[in-house]
Amino acid sequence: MKATFNPPVRTLMGPGPSDVSPRVLSAMARPTIGHLDPEFIRMMDEIKEMLQLLFKTKSPLTMPVSAPGSAGMEACFVNLVEPGDKVVVCQNGVFGGRMKENVERFGGEAIMVQDDWGKPVDLDKVEKALADNDNVKALAFVHAETSTGVRSDAESLCALAQKYGCLSIVDAVTSLGGIDVDMDGWGIDAIYSGTQKCLSCPPGISPVAFGEKAIDAVKNRKTPVPSWFLDKNLVMGYWGGGGKRAYHHTAPVNSLYALHESLVMLHEEGMENAWQRHQLHHDALRAGLEAMGVNFLVDEECRLPQLNTVFVPEGVDEAEVRTRLLNEYSLEIGAGLGALAGKVWRIGLMGSACNRRNVMFCLSALENTLS
Ligand code: PLP
Repeated sequence: MKATFNPPVRTLMGPGPSDVSPRVLSAMARPTIGHLDPEFIRMMDEIKEMLQLLFKTKSPLTMPVSAPGSAGMEACFVNLVEPGDKVVVCQNGVFGGRMKENVERFGGEAIMVQDDWGKPVDLDKVEKALADNDNVKALAFVHAETSTGVRSDAESLCALAQKYGCLSIVDAVTSLGGIDVDMDGWGIDAIYSGTQKCLSCPPGISPVAFGEKAIDAVKNRKTPVPSWFLDKNLVMGYWGGGGKRAYHHTAPVNSLYALHESLVMLHEEGMENAWQRHQLHHDALRAGLEAMGVNFLVDEECRLPQLNTVFVPEGVDEAEVRTRLLNEYSLEIGAGLGALAGKVWRIGLMGSACNRRNVMFCLSALENTLS
């Protein structure tokens, strides 16, 4: 016989998932009701409205995909890329590489714009790729690269997509809720995020929005969307609203209670206040780390406040430090990925985990462990 699983209580200061607030956890424990129950549908309408505010969009095709951020990414590419389509993909970390794989799996041609890990996407290189290639269908990039902690200039990248008449596909998994994301203001055509970073929810849901041009592109496809579950034409029968909701899949009812509660909390605080809180605590963490002689990978002007990537000091066994933090302090910080493995730590300050107590706790635990 196995016993009940009781997870340890951790402080989650890695690249995600981040700490989930007790309010969100208790929302998840409320009674499951039917996914077509009128009360559930009322809550779905509220989720949609609150996501529209968060993405800053009026788009009717705004909804949470019932699966993690990777499914939100796939939902964008599977609906918008057809065989033979050219997509300019910017890569400056792990997640741009996944965009390339998506484009190629759906029969598209990925035209890669590469930048060093830790640097933002270079606008001149992107403009050159768009100017040198005819009939580019979309420009795809990661707003907040979780593997490095760098913020790219989403507004200018979307302006380039508009200048060259192509769609923009934006990964906002780590940016949404932590820094400004302005879908309609910047002219983003398709965007996806995740619940487990700055929205302080458990993982497993991916908010997605398609603007008018992206909706037209899906409607005018020459070939059917090669995924039944992610086909926007089908799922909008359930998420489309307008009083009509038809069965598409059984929604993860309790996870959506969690998303609803986290969005209520975010809107109670105010989005601008949440971004300021992320910046404030990032500044405090940075001051403490620099005082300990720990340096940042990313230049100050394009650093993400919610994801702090710092070099492991010379002669320190980075994995041993993370293990000691976990065992002795129940504190999780992240390791480096890919080319940065073994060289950096990634310290998250995301969502409700971004608070003064966590900053002080992380600094003192790290200092004690390194001394
Ligand atoms: N994109 C970015 C920038 C991410 O950081 C992540 C996850 O960390 C993903 C996509 C994939 O999200 P998930 O792990 O929820 O599938």
